[in-house]
Amino acid sequence: MVVHTKKIWVNGKFVDWKKANVHILTYSLHYGFAVFEGIRFYVTPNGHAVFRLDDHMERLFFSAKAAKIKIPFSKEKLKKAISGLIRIDKLKAGYIRPIVYLAGEMGLNPKGNKVHVAIATWPWGAYLGKALKEGAKAIIAKQRRPDKNAMPINAKVSGNYVSSALAKLEAIEKGYDEAIMLDKNGNVAECTGENVFIVKDNVLITPPLDYILSGITRKSVMQIAKDSSIRVKEKFFTPPELLKADEVFITGTAAEVTPVVAVNKKKIGNGKPGRITLTLQHEFFKAVHGKNPKYRKWLTKV
Ligand code: PMP
Repeated sequence: MVVHTKKIWVNGKFVDWKKANVHILTYSLHYGFAVFEGIRFYVTPNGHAVFRLDDHMERLFFSAKAAKIKIPFSKEKLKKAISGLIRIDKLKAGYIRPIVYLAGEMGLNPKGNKVHVAIATWPWGAYLGKALKEGAKAIIAKQRRPDKNAMPINAKVSGNYVSSALAKLEAIEKGYDEAIMLDKNGNVAECTGENVFIVKDNVLITPPLDYILSGITRKSVMQIAKDSSIRVKEKFFTPPELLKADEVFITGTAAEVTPVVAVNKKKIGNGKPGRITLTLQHEFFKAVHGKNPKYRKWLTKV
């Protein structure tokens, strides 16, 4: 269910939630040609703070560039809009969804459309519910990630998520929490909205950036692992290697750091969240809640 808040920021104005609508003949709705971000803010000892806001802004503008969209606002303006929204809605913790979309024309040529920017925020608990603590059950989806020659898969372009949504549906219909997707070569790529890690012989392994979104949580967890003297390797691995891993977990702004305890009915390790996974999850939550001074640089007070 979409949570009803007070305001949504649309093209420079705070608009009533109910009035923040688009017309049926909106270019982006028809062709999936829009870019967006997913950001979280958390309660910290010094009030609330947005996690890695500058990195998310960078990625929003990178995604727009990949779709040849020129965002008509500066990063600073969008950051101010986000703090304004959080203050107006008096939210302590939650999710922030900026979206850049086109409207005004029909037919495929994106030129001539007006570029719109909207930002919504709402309280959002654990994206995968109790799996955050108990561990998720995942399938290896039949639905693959699109090829990078077909879609800008390193950008958060709305149309990319058709393949993610189909994979998610495949998982849910089979009674699983999440879907792990393969790249065009059959190696493990990422989940529908999360990056994937395995632990084998105490080494943390995650696919390189070739066929995946460069996750901000992925980058944070890799940094935390290095700082905790856990070896990290970026390398391709196959589904059989995934099934034989000692631990598996997934990372994303929405899913945070969620253990995976079974893949395709096969238990991972002893079928419980692994030791390294739990250490990294614990350190990640300390970081986002401003409880580790080393990572306070990742927090923007609002
Ligand atoms: N992969 C995909 C396809 C995603 O949509 C996301 C969510 N943005 C991620 C990975 C994780 O990225 P992040 O940690 O920056 O949220």
